[in-house]
Amino acid sequence: MLRSTLLAASRSGAVRGLVERTPLTRPVVKRFISGDDTAAAVATTGEVLADGRYVTLDHLGEDTRDAEQASGTVEAYEVLLRRLAEVGYADRAEVSVKLSAVGQFLPKDGEKIALENARRICVAADAAGTTVTLDMEDHTTTDSTLDILRELRVDFPRVGAVLQAYLKRTEQDCRDLAHAGSRVRLCKGAYKEPAAVAFQDKTEVDRSYVRCLKVLMAGAGYPMVASHDPRLIAIAHDLAAHRAPDTYEYQMLFGIRPEEQRRLAAEGNRMRVYVPYGDEWYGYFMRRLAERPANVAFFLRALITR
Ligand code: FAD
Repeated sequence: MLRSTLLAASRSGAVRGLVERTPLTRPVVKRFISGDDTAAAVATTGEVLADGRYVTLDHLGEDTRDAEQASGTVEAYEVLLRRLAEVGYADRAEVSVKLSAVGQFLPKDGEKIALENARRICVAADAAGTTVTLDMEDHTTTDSTLDILRELRVDFPRVGAVLQAYLKRTEQDCRDLAHAGSRVRLCKGAYKEPAAVAFQDKTEVDRSYVRCLKVLMAGAGYPMVASHDPRLIAIAHDLAAHRAPDTYEYQMLFGIRPEEQRRLAAEGNRMRVYVPYGDEWYGYFMRRLAERPANVAFFLRALITR
């Protein structure tokens, strides 16, 4: 119930105004978001890399309805990627891109524009010596995102994508993508989805995650286990027993279970942290609150006690 309300609020302009205008929100947002600009993102990247973890950077923004804004997002990624190369981080830091931030929802030729914009980011990533992973948004975008992935991989075979275990289609998508050279980031899924397309029950989502993980770990691709769930991490560890350590990785979000991130890295696992930055933090922040009721209490407590 609370999850649904928060996810509905994540797409409400009125609530967005309220949350963003509250000056006391900022310190709480900082737990999940690196900072507003490239300098903050690069500084956080340096801190994360220092203890042996890897990074993927997300320039925050989504649901763009403006072509200029979409192009601005591409430029932000280009600047970031040049900077990552300059400071020598590009071998351990890649970028994550939401296609809706680069034009997928534009009323005219959205998909074509998103493909061209994503291609520009891939060119910049390639020049920097790193790669791109396409985030996955709500289920109405899955086919379009996977089509764009296929197009990009023709020229940039290291481009990866996210699949969401809560979608009923995902086990088949995993089979389709479990081939050599294919990078798949498997997560549970963070959007409010209808029962027709998505499992609603937490246990069913977890079971689907395990089925998908089995397909990916048995395949020839590069599975990226994106979860903070201790049970799923233990299962991934067992399923990966036959694999070399550099043929898969664990991934978690910035600010969530950092000690576990460090533990996994210290044990010799490849552990990547998803680091979001930028001032368009609202949708991302609300999804983090929705994932864990305790975060709402944390948020409210911070508002009250400051
Ligand atoms: P859960 O059962 O939600 O959590 C397990 C445990 O992890 C909790 O008990 C708690 O201890 C901790 N935890 C989880 N979430 C939080 C939180 N917000 N705050 C504090 N503690 C928490 N979703 C998409 O739909 N599309 C994407 O492209 C996408 N990309 C992602 C990339 C990465 C690298 C990661 C890690 C997640 C991504 N997600 C994405 C989000 C994902 O779908 C889940 O919503 C999120 O990871 C929570 O699920 P969980 O597997 O951690 O399990």
